[in-house]
Amino acid sequence: MRPFTYERAHSPAEAAALASRTEGAKFIAGGTNLLDLMKLEIETPTHLIDVNGLALDKIEPTPDGGLRIGALVRNTDLAADERVRRDYALLTRALLAGASGQLRNKATTAGNLLQRTRCPYFYDTNQPCNKRRPGSGCAAIGGFSRQLAVMGTSEACIATHPSDMAVALRALDATVETVRPDGTMRSIPIAEFHRLPGDTPHIETALAPGELITAVTLPKPLGGTHVYRKVRDRASYAFALISVGAIVRQDGSGRVALGGVAHKPWRVEAAEADMPRGAKAVTAQLLAGARPTQQNAFKLRLVERTLDAVLNEARG
Ligand code: SF4
Repeated sequence: MRPFTYERAHSPAEAAALASRTEGAKFIAGGTNLLDLMKLEIETPTHLIDVNGLALDKIEPTPDGGLRIGALVRNTDLAADERVRRDYALLTRALLAGASGQLRNKATTAGNLLQRTRCPYFYDTNQPCNKRRPGSGCAAIGGFSRQLAVMGTSEACIATHPSDMAVALRALDATVETVRPDGTMRSIPIAEFHRLPGDTPHIETALAPGELITAVTLPKPLGGTHVYRKVRDRASYAFALISVGAIVRQDGSGRVALGGVAHKPWRVEAAEADMPRGAKAVTAQLLAGARPTQQNAFKLRLVERTLDAVLNEARG
């Protein structure tokens, strides 16, 4: 691990200002991903700004009937919150499908959104990786790609986003609230928060340098039956091969988002009109234009079969 300096921030605006004027600075909260990356020298911050002391750990109702989740709310606390379990069960289910109990106790709402890909070549510093070292190439293209993306890929990167929580937030139409280094606030719809890789896979979100996530807000509850199903190589403590998060109303309409297929949680709103017609029709639109590799083409069929199971479960 490379040497770094450390300080505690006293307010969100101060943290953002500090980060923007300190070359190589990074925020740290739970540290469940960042510390691993620092030990491997994939992330090499020169300065850590500890945001754990900021009062961003509350879950509060919003005036329009939704919920505002502080950036520092731990994944365990969010999953267990009575209001979340009752009104946003998709979020609870997605959270509990991720990581392990110990990691969820430390991991925060904002950190979960910002976690880095688990592409094996990203973690192997002997291999070329445009995300880790821009311009170095992509060892996954033509390499071991079973886990990697089938949608929204580019010639530069075919990595997936690893978060389960983000898939639920995408289906729920969450908004990410931030503070910028000049102290102004911003609201970013979750659909625009994560980016596709394009030519710049190292730029993963819409955040500007120094911008700090302060909260995630959920609109008022949608009702319906909430199902999150994650398909993975072992029953727990594994990232998704694919996952399906769905909200299904009694008339069969609803929403669906996918994990494990793209560089961001994958949702195609136009496909949802076909939910009453069944999984085949929805999947055809969700995965239109897919560019799988030989090793991960199985994901296309797996999405359809998993969505079929999810819709059946939701309809009882
Ligand atoms: Fe790196 Fe992306 Fe290629 Fe993986 S898929 S090696 S993360 S550039």
